[in-house]
Amino acid sequence: MIPYGKQCISQDDIDAVIEVLKSDFLTQGPQVPKFESAISTYCNSKYAIAVNSATSGLHVACLALDLGEDDLLWTSPITFVASANCGLYCGAKVDFVDIDPGTYNISLVALEKKLELAKAQGKLPKVLVVVHMAGQSADMVAISILAKKFNFRVVEDASHAIGGMYRGTHIGSCLYSDITVFSFHPVKIITTAEGGVVTTNSAGLAKKMNLLRSHGVTRDANQIISASHGPWYYQQIMLGFNYRMTEIQAALGISQLNRLDEFVRRRHELAERYDELLKNLPVTLPVQIAETYSSFHLYIIRLNLSAETTNRVKVFEGLREMGIGVNVHYIPVHLQPFYSNMGFELGDFPEAELYYNETISLPLYFEMTDEQQDQVVNSLGKLLTK
Ligand SMILES: *Cc1c(COP(=O)(O)O)cnc(C)c1O
Repeated sequence: MIPYGKQCISQDDIDAVIEVLKSDFLTQGPQVPKFESAISTYCNSKYAIAVNSATSGLHVACLALDLGEDDLLWTSPITFVASANCGLYCGAKVDFVDIDPGTYNISLVALEKKLELAKAQGKLPKVLVVVHMAGQSADMVAISILAKKFNFRVVEDASHAIGGMYRGTHIGSCLYSDITVFSFHPVKIITTAEGGVVTTNSAGLAKKMNLLRSHGVTRDANQIISASHGPWYYQQIMLGFNYRMTEIQAALGISQLNRLDEFVRRRHELAERYDELLKNLPVTLPVQIAETYSSFHLYIIRLNLSAETTNRVKVFEGLREMGIGVNVHYIPVHLQPFYSNMGFELGDFPEAELYYNETISLPLYFEMTDEQQDQVVNSLGKLLTK
């Protein structure tokens, strides 16, 4: 089976992990700060804080922004459930904004319209989680203008997007947002097995997220609230969690980061090749916006369902039978039973639902060969031109 995504682990990656296993620290040692500083240098953010997953990162980001009961979080329905769940973890209510039918990112038109309506009703969101779908940045300048106008905070869910760029800077610079969250799950661009990083330029948010990932406990003399009892002293000054990344994961992350640009370059090469090879089939290819450079986490096509031979389930099953590990990203979050129990229903976000009916993610990963790609294209061609 040709998988839809797959990590690439080199001998250097393995050596880096083994070094840690032979060292004194498996957690809370030198590798995590080293990884954090490598990420903040790469992204040109002031701060980077490593956590044990992007889901944890989204949670501490929302808490740092004081999202709580009586607050609202908005995000896109076309994302992994974690982009919305983080709002619920904080006791907030979650709502969605429909997608742009071209980029599959949040629709700026729908967002502005919904904000105007929410303002009139006194129900503006406190936090907007912006998903960079497939690794292509959303229009962050426009979003940051709306954030100022309607007074909400912006978290970039860049789980797909490390190595991608927007207007000449790496995603994660937080030039147009409060916080960016990355995921290093093995299907993403680089991996730490499980893991994530949050970036920010705010000293206050960094300090809070730092505490939140480790029990709300500090030994820092500047943060301790009353007199120290002695050299052993630590203090819990807020309710935090154990969301720490291990030294093993951080060492793997540092080593993977060395090849990030190479990973993304090859993904672009494969994406351009797909564009060329698929151009005569009844499918819509991914649209690339000039001011963005995608990390190409996913290569998403939409089937032209008006073509007589096309039935998404049949195409999907056919590809799987031919050994092509296709996938679907994503089932709209508002249609998940857990969310429909809150009152969301079919018809709420029509562009997202239409997209869902037509979408298939084709295999795309660093080590995919041209021959494997040809096999994907030929199999799809057979199914669509029968
Ligand atoms: C993968 C993913 C997450 C969750 O990442 P984890 O590191 O597995 O917690 C969140 N949001 C999006 C958009 C993702 O693709």
